[in-house]
Amino acid sequence: MDLPHMMGLALLGGTPVRSHPFAPRRTMGTAERDAAMAVLDSGVLSAFIGGPGPYFLGGPRVRAFEGAWADLFGYDHAVSVNSWTSGLMTCIGAAGIEPGDEVICTPTTMSASATSILFYGGVPVFADIEPDGFCLDPAKVEALVTPRTRAIMVAHLFGGAADLDALVAIARRHGLVLIEDAAQAPGTTLHGRLVGAWHGLGGFSLNYHKHIHTGEGGMIVTNDPVLAERCQLIRNHGENVLESHGLEDPANLIGGNYRLTELQAAIGLAQLDRLAPIVAQRQALAARLTQGLAGVPGLTPAWVRPDSQHSWYCYPIRYDEGATGVPRQRFIEAVCAELPPPASSDDVALTGGYVRPLYLNPVYQKRRALGSRGFPFDQAAGSVSYEPGLCPVAERTWRSDLMLSALIRDPLTPDDIDDLVRAIHKVSDRIAELRDTVCPTPVAA
Ligand SMILES: *Cc1c(COP(=O)(O)O)cnc(C)c1O
Repeated sequence: MDLPHMMGLALLGGTPVRSHPFAPRRTMGTAERDAAMAVLDSGVLSAFIGGPGPYFLGGPRVRAFEGAWADLFGYDHAVSVNSWTSGLMTCIGAAGIEPGDEVICTPTTMSASATSILFYGGVPVFADIEPDGFCLDPAKVEALVTPRTRAIMVAHLFGGAADLDALVAIARRHGLVLIEDAAQAPGTTLHGRLVGAWHGLGGFSLNYHKHIHTGEGGMIVTNDPVLAERCQLIRNHGENVLESHGLEDPANLIGGNYRLTELQAAIGLAQLDRLAPIVAQRQALAARLTQGLAGVPGLTPAWVRPDSQHSWYCYPIRYDEGATGVPRQRFIEAVCAELPPPASSDDVALTGGYVRPLYLNPVYQKRRALGSRGFPFDQAAGSVSYEPGLCPVAERTWRSDLMLSALIRDPLTPDDIDDLVRAIHKVSDRIAELRDTVCPTPVAA
C-alpha cells in the first residue's frame, strides 16, 4: 500500500517509480566473437596496401562487409572507413568541394557534419531546421543557395528521415550534390526506400553508440561509380595510384589512411544480422512510448514524417515550458529522480537539448579553423553569417524545446517503457508541487 509520503515526487523526498537498474546494452555475441577469433587466428588484422594492386581495396573481410552492406541497403557501392567523421570528410572531398565553395548544412547535428566541410576549405552555411522533424528545413535551404553553393549536407537526426523529396528537388534544380549524414539512421526509410544516398552520397557511423558498431568505423554508400572510386582513393593514399587508375586530375584525390581493419569488418559483418531486429525492437518501444505520452500537458511525442519509418537512435519529445510552468531542466531532474541512476549514457531517461547549434561554437564565432589567418572563412565570396539568432528554431530547440530519451534501445522491454511513462505521468500529475519549488528567475538589474 502506498503511504501518502511515498506518493510524492522522488525529487522532493518521495519514493521513486523504479529503483532497479535497466538492463545494460549488450552489443556483442558469439557470432562477433567467432568472427573476431578467426581474424586473430589468421594473423592478418588488416590487408590494405596504400599503392597499386589488389589490396588497394582492402582484404577479404573488408570487401565482404562492403558487399553485404551495399546489398542490404540497396546501393550499388559501399566504401568502409575507420570512422564516419573520416567518411564525411571523404564525401566532401569526393564531391569536389573546393576552397570557397559553400555547403549548406544543419546547425543541429554532430559537429563533424560541418567540420568535414572546413577540412576541404569549404564554407558551412547553416540553414534552420524544421520544428517537428529537427532536420534541415528545405525552404530555408533554398533561400541560401548562391552561385558558390556546391552541396547540401543533411542529417537524418535521431533516426528520423529528413525531407528528402524537397531536398533532392532543390539539389537537382541547382546542380548540387546532396550528402546524407545518416549516422543515426541505419534502417530509416522514406516511401519504403532506405535513406543514405538519394542524390549523391552519404553514409553511416559504426561507433559504439550507434545502432550497430565496430567500435569505431563508418560506411559510405552511393550509386555513382565515379564517386565510389573517388572515395576509395581518398580513403587510402589515392595519390599513389592515380596513373594505375587512369586518372589525370589529382585534385582532391590525395588521401588519408581512413581504412577499416579486417577485425572490424568481420565484427561488422556479424553485426549486420542484428540491424533489422534492433530497428524493429526500437520501433515497437517507440510506438509504446508515443502512446504513453499522449495527452501529457506540455509534452509532444516524437513526430514521424508521413510515409517514413523512423529508426530511433533516440526518442525526441518536444517540451513546452509555457504549458507546464516549469523549466525544462527542472522537469527532467524530476523525471530522472523517479528512475534508477544511469549506469551509462545508454540509460539516460531524459536529457535536454542535444547539441548547441554548431555556428555558436568558437570555430564559427571566431572564424578560426585551419591555421590562424581566417581560412577557409576568408574564401567565401560574400558574407556568411554565424550571428546568434541565425537559426531561431535550432536555438529554441536547444535552449528549451527538446528533450531526448536514450531508453529506446535494445534490450529494453515494454515494461521498461511503461516505467518511463509512469515517471513522466507522475511528474506531470504533480507539476504544481514542482512549480512551488522553482526559484523565480532573478530580474536582471
Ligand atoms: C556519430 C555521428 C557522427 C560521427 O560518427 P563517428 O563514427 O563517431 O565519427 C556524425 N554525424 C552524426 C549525426 C552522428 O550521430
